[in-house]
Amino acid sequence: MITELRDALGASHVRDDAATLLLHAHDSSVFEGGVSGPVCYPVDTAQVQAVVRIAAAHGRSIVPRGAGTGLAGGAIPLGAPIVVSTGRMTQILEVDEVNMVAWVEPGVINLDLTKHLRPMGFHYAPDPSSQQVCTIGGNVANNSGGPHCLAYGVTDAHVLAIEVVLSDGSIAVLGGLEDEPDGYDLRGAFVGSEGMLGIATRIAVRLTKNPPAVATLLLAYDAVADAANTVSAVIAAGVVPAAMEVMDQRITIAVENFVGAGYPRDAAAVLLVEVEGLSSGVAIDAAQIEAIGLANGATNVRTAATALERELLWKGRKTAFGAIAQLAPDYYLHDTVVPRAKLAEVLQQIYEIADRYDLTIMNVFHAGDGNLHPLIVFDGRDEGVLDRVHAAGAEIVAASLAAGGVLSGEHGVGVEKQPYMDQMFGPNDLKAQERLRKAFDPYCRQNPGKVIPSAHSCADIQALKAVPKGIWG
Ligand SMILES: Cc1cc2nc3c(=O)[nH]c(=O)nc-3n(C[C@H](O)[C@H](O)[C@H](O)COP(=O)(O)OP(=O)(O)OC[C@H]3O[C@@H](n4cnc5c(N)ncnc54)[C@H](O)[C@@H]3O)c2cc1C
Repeated sequence: MITELRDALGASHVRDDAATLLLHAHDSSVFEGGVSGPVCYPVDTAQVQAVVRIAAAHGRSIVPRGAGTGLAGGAIPLGAPIVVSTGRMTQILEVDEVNMVAWVEPGVINLDLTKHLRPMGFHYAPDPSSQQVCTIGGNVANNSGGPHCLAYGVTDAHVLAIEVVLSDGSIAVLGGLEDEPDGYDLRGAFVGSEGMLGIATRIAVRLTKNPPAVATLLLAYDAVADAANTVSAVIAAGVVPAAMEVMDQRITIAVENFVGAGYPRDAAAVLLVEVEGLSSGVAIDAAQIEAIGLANGATNVRTAATALERELLWKGRKTAFGAIAQLAPDYYLHDTVVPRAKLAEVLQQIYEIADRYDLTIMNVFHAGDGNLHPLIVFDGRDEGVLDRVHAAGAEIVAASLAAGGVLSGEHGVGVEKQPYMDQMFGPNDLKAQERLRKAFDPYCRQNPGKVIPSAHSCADIQALKAVPKGIWG
């Protein structure tokens, strides 16, 4: 099989040395790595198609992979599949400024796209905190969000069409550039499908005009609950900021030590709010947010006076996860969503859960979306700590669901939330999801063992068993 892959792609585009296999056995999650089969680096759609056909002929499964920054274990290879890396498919193929659309290859780094568009007066709106490294293909597969998705919507709202290589090697274009493409919205089914319906090889993304005016406010509080309540009150007042992010004191101090973003160290929480648009509207919104903040207990409100100050405030937020490396070598970043009005209540429960398991927890989250990101920091070398981390995680998920929330806001289900799927969906819901998947991939060869619990997915079990143990291990 490797000879066939090398003949199709060129020898240097197929690797099976021990270091490469080990590297591709993991993503950025805390979950145990899988076992990677050969890793392929196709350069275009035809090469992806060739890999998929070879895999099908040998009865092997496939895992697409972008930058491996996923936090739910989505790119972890189970059953020694062929890993298809998009690391050499990094071209921005076409930018149509008139119709505000760009066609890109899946390996394009999110921030590189925005940098490319900036001189034209545009940007790509979904801005995950990992945007310096994650890929548009990974964003599509996980329907990723980011701080500025509150006003603009997550990835799904910015993807018009996707060229996909299906598991039999055929090519389909899902969606289209027209306002209302004909037929079922299969593009919508593919966005968020976590690599299980096919491999995205070209993606048409919507461009967003850069706003004429921006104001960034930093509000400080003596209680995390006050910051959370401000978020609900702002939205209830009919103001929809571009972004609303909360950070508690522990993470604020870590960020200050790391980049010196200008956050107050003595506040129990800070709320970062950004409003965009025409300057007159921005000024009105900023004044209203300041008033709502003060009415909800803000002890200080500051508006960034310069572009540099604004950039620094955002740098602090976007490097928050790197900052915690000063405190402990490992972290588990959770991702659940609760109704905005329940934010303060669920946050309190999360702090109590961490205390009960004797764990250090910090909260930094996309508050406007009700998207919680409890961050547990720990040293994986401590005996039994990972068991406590996972047990606390299960309780956080249960508390979020009990509050009327959902399993994931943006990181996806992968292997992380798979065990909780039947707490959220009934058997019929899961069967319907499985049927949709098999319509794309009847033998479940695309990223098997993820998302859908195995009791609802017999073909998955077949795909995972297809490779005798020990071949790649
Ligand atoms: C520090 C940090 C901060 C983060 N912040 C955010 C955030 O703010 N918002 C957010 O949403 N996420 C965030 N994430 C999670 C992660 O960055 C996103 O899920 C991102 O979209 C993953 O992209 P990737 O290129 O790394 O994909 P990978 O991790 O390589 O893969 C993710 C999934 O996509 C599939 N996939 C990849 N490429 C393709 C393709 N071409 N076709 C089909 N399937 C494909 C894979 O099989 C896998 O299931 C963060 C992660 C880190 C480490």
